[in-house]
Amino acid sequence: SSRWARAMAIVRELEEKCGSPEAKLKQVADAMTVEMHAGLASEGGSKLKMLISHVDNLPTGDEEGVYYALDLGGTNFRVLRVELGGKTGGIVSQEFAEASIPPELMVGTSEALFDYIAAELAKFITEEEEKYHPPPGRQRELGFTFSFPVMQNSINSGTLMRWTKGFSIDDMVGNDVVAELSKAMHRQGVDVHVSALVNDTIGTLAGGRFSNKDVAIAVIMGTGTNAAYVERAQAIPKWHGPLPNSGEMVINMEWGNFKSSHLPLTEYDHALDAESLNAGEQVFEKLISGMYLGEILRRVLLRMAEEAAFFGDEVPPKLKTPFVLRTPDMSAMHHDTSADLRVVSNKLKDIFEVSNTTLKTRRAVVELCNIIATRGARLAAAGIFGVLKKMGKDTSTGAEKTVIAMDGGLYEHYTEYRKCLENTLIELLGGDGSSSIAFEHSNDGSGIGAALLAASHSQYR
Ligand code: ADP
Ligand code: MG
Repeated sequence: SSRWARAMAIVRELEEKCGSPEAKLKQVADAMTVEMHAGLASEGGSKLKMLISHVDNLPTGDEEGVYYALDLGGTNFRVLRVELGGKTGGIVSQEFAEASIPPELMVGTSEALFDYIAAELAKFITEEEEKYHPPPGRQRELGFTFSFPVMQNSINSGTLMRWTKGFSIDDMVGNDVVAELSKAMHRQGVDVHVSALVNDTIGTLAGGRFSNKDVAIAVIMGTGTNAAYVERAQAIPKWHGPLPNSGEMVINMEWGNFKSSHLPLTEYDHALDAESLNAGEQVFEKLISGMYLGEILRRVLLRMAEEAAFFGDEVPPKLKTPFVLRTPDMSAMHHDTSADLRVVSNKLKDIFEVSNTTLKTRRAVVELCNIIATRGARLAAAGIFGVLKKMGKDTSTGAEKTVIAMDGGLYEHYTEYRKCLENTLIELLGGDGSSSIAFEHSNDGSGIGAALLAASHSQYR
């Protein structure tokens, strides 16, 4: 029918606009490299903030003692305790508690948010075994993984530059994150010293390095996206401090804010951005990360419903609600291997209240998932390729291997996305690509890494 033809025309148009052939990805990677240089040259020199983490030494494996971590990244919040065994002891034990952040706290006051976090920490500590209690006169120490753009002043202080990923608490911007946390802990009667402030990429890099010495890049693909890597201190013109003994400095790229004319943006992306809490910002993140993939799909389906009666004569009202289609649901549909696409059918019913979809319709939905996820995964790979180029590790140099520590719910659970990302990077590296790099899933690396950095920056060292 002509309706079906119109619907398919929308699919084909999307496919064309989302196209990411190798040549285009290489342009994206080159643009990433250029922006990295610009961001390292001067403060504000690029959309890429290339933040100096003040981490100039990654864990060696010799760390010892009981340390804590708080991980505030977007969707979930975690409290973690890690017992480190010192040289050859590795991680003796670890324990965590997880809670989801109540949505109202994401747009409330900084006091309310930090009181909630401190209260969760208080609960965790109250419930723990006596053997973890610190000896008299000694404070517990923690690493705080706070995954929003922060201008670090030292390893354990830094001011929030702006919010991302749906958070918006105006009174917090410009404040010291550790000071806010410490005040809240005081209000909650918790006596813990914050020894390190990092974000999830730095934590993942540290956690990854602890278990594999070839880890030199960390990439987070979760609610949002970001990357960190080890840079030569001398290649950071904007760093005016003393050169670290290691000669290295870990850089938090804040790559979610990357933007380039080479990015394949569609009308759906422009509309999503314009209606977002942070219009014009985090453009790369809005193309590739978990918070947005499902929402892009919803927007395409809405247009197909409105212009081509894709779900029948009426546009399902639920289809008009922003963010009702979450990326985990999109991924469940994408991975549906049943002959009649039962999962797709159920998701469409549960989320949009459309029943009796035809197999043809469900197949089209899966195809849309594939187009949107493929674009995101390929662009993420191009970003990593850009970082490898900047590090001079984009060509195989014999025995040397670069390991990329990966973490985040999207990478962990969206198998098609992950496979596409990994295959695309190998495609971009060409030739012997797969022998010069490796991916490592650094499960919970960000929290463990923060605890490791708290250990190496302990006040009792
Ligand atoms: P955060 O990024 O908030 O710190 P995670 O790393 O756990 O937290 O990532 C959570 C995000 O991962 C979710 O917001 C979602 O976008 C994505 N995600 C979680 N589960 C799945 C899944 N099964 N399929 C696809 N994406 C998922
Ligand atoms: Mg996280």
